[in-house]
Amino acid sequence: MFITFEGPEGAGKTTVLGMLREYLEEQGFKVLLTREPGGIPIAEQIREVILSTLNTKMDPRTEALLYAAARRQHLVEKVIPALEKGCIVLCDRFIDSSLAYQGYARGLGINEVSTINEFAIEGLWPDATFYYDIDPEVGLKRISSNSGREVNRLDSENLEFHHKVKEGYMELINRYRGRFHIINAEKELPLVFEQTKTKLIDILNR
Ligand code: C5P
Ligand code: MG
Repeated sequence: MFITFEGPEGAGKTTVLGMLREYLEEQGFKVLLTREPGGIPIAEQIREVILSTLNTKMDPRTEALLYAAARRQHLVEKVIPALEKGCIVLCDRFIDSSLAYQGYARGLGINEVSTINEFAIEGLWPDATFYYDIDPEVGLKRISSNSGREVNRLDSENLEFHHKVKEGYMELINRYRGRFHIINAEKELPLVFEQTKTKLIDILNR
């Protein structure tokens, strides 16, 4: 089972994912928790190139291709072997981030970015995707008060960009209705976790 976690900045995905892993392992499941871009050395190196605050001249298509390249390597080296071993793979961001950020918000087009990503994933779409819904302003306030978070090139984007990212996700939710599960991420963390857990149990039992 391959499950991905999506949403704007500051939605709490990473925190909830840590709690979810702990819960699933207690229930006796084998779990792989990983993230994109990154998760393995080659992809973490690509992540550094993409997110470095020094790389201010990066062209949007270059950015989209780098994400797709990191995704490919991560899938082959880590996700597919774990799925073959029967793990539940929980992935912090996946193809939908590229479609929302580069496809929609950067204006490259969801279909165009889909094409390069379909080449990268060879049909391995997630079985289910959780979307953490939050007002971009609330999300950005949360990350600005999280001093432990790494600074990245995207931090200089304005609020309008983050609203576009959210619009992009809304478009994807319409396109892929069966796959997406929406979580209200403006609630308190324990509630966000409970909502996720309940839906995930449903998915695992269906
Ligand atoms: O999920 P995480 O916060 O680690 O993502 C790192 C950064 O990469 C975020 O600022 C996110 O907005 C950005 N990103 C992006 N396009 C993607 C995936 C992530 O701009 N396709
Ligand atoms: Mg995160």
